[in-house]
Amino acid sequence: MANKTISDLLADFELRHAQKSYANERRRVRSKIIQGIEEEKRALLLKKLECAFLQGEARACDKELAALEQREQEALRAEGIAEEYDCPACRDTGVIGGKYCNCFLYEVYRLVYGAVDLKTLTESFDTFDRSVFDDKLPQKSGKTQRQMMELYRKICEDYIGVFPKTVKQNILLRGKAGLGKTYLLNCMAKEAHKKGIDVCLMRSAALFDVFFKHRMGEEVPLEFLRNVQLLLIDDLGTEPVTQNVSTEYLFDLLNRRLEAGLHTVVATNIDDLQKRYDERISSRLEAKQACATLFFDGEDLRLK
Ligand SMILES: [Zn+2]
Repeated sequence: MANKTISDLLADFELRHAQKSYANERRRVRSKIIQGIEEEKRALLLKKLECAFLQGEARACDKELAALEQREQEALRAEGIAEEYDCPACRDTGVIGGKYCNCFLYEVYRLVYGAVDLKTLTESFDTFDRSVFDDKLPQKSGKTQRQMMELYRKICEDYIGVFPKTVKQNILLRGKAGLGKTYLLNCMAKEAHKKGIDVCLMRSAALFDVFFKHRMGEEVPLEFLRNVQLLLIDDLGTEPVTQNVSTEYLFDLLNRRLEAGLHTVVATNIDDLQKRYDERISSRLEAKQACATLFFDGEDLRLK
């Protein structure tokens, strides 16, 4: 459910970090060996302080301290005491070097914007089943549905494989519903997440809901959507038409991302994007220089 604010999430992370640190500390306290080393360290730090004040040589203490630290790490490993954090990179603080960690951004997308929880996706390039696509009837392109899907699968897989050095900045997947666009989008999102790419997969209805809330003055910042490394938008055009007021938001988002060189992948079954939105949006989505367009044709898989 997208009902959290950034401040809620920051408070969540602070609490999580405190709880985990406390649990880690308790594990250390229970170990006699570790406590022995800790005592030695305290004594050494005192000695170092004395040396510093008495103009003595503190460097010898530093060497000893480093050796103790190493002994402590070895003892921790030997005792099976590992620091346990959900995200070892940021130790569940949500921040690394003054920047938000990907684990924090992931929760922003999911809990503030209502993006898809990528951990629940079951689709993957590995389990792609080519046999569900027809291989007899050539489509308008001259290729069968299976041949087209194999090609598109490869394009999408390569896009994530070489990310962010992709051949084209963006991809547009077009065609009727039920031809596998969402499937490929899910595969891309899942694979990107697995690779540690900062990625956000939004169904169009949820995206326009964010725009709507922002317009109504709710506490929904847009900069995370603007700055995410890879934004995937599924089902563009299925959002309620009554939210047309948000078209300006869509243009602004696409335009900023295009200009910033950030990657956006959109799937839509709208034939005439210019008619559905306007020329500015269609030209951003279809920009030939920056975008690879994949046309989907064939039989609706859901009817099979
Ligand atoms: Zn993290």
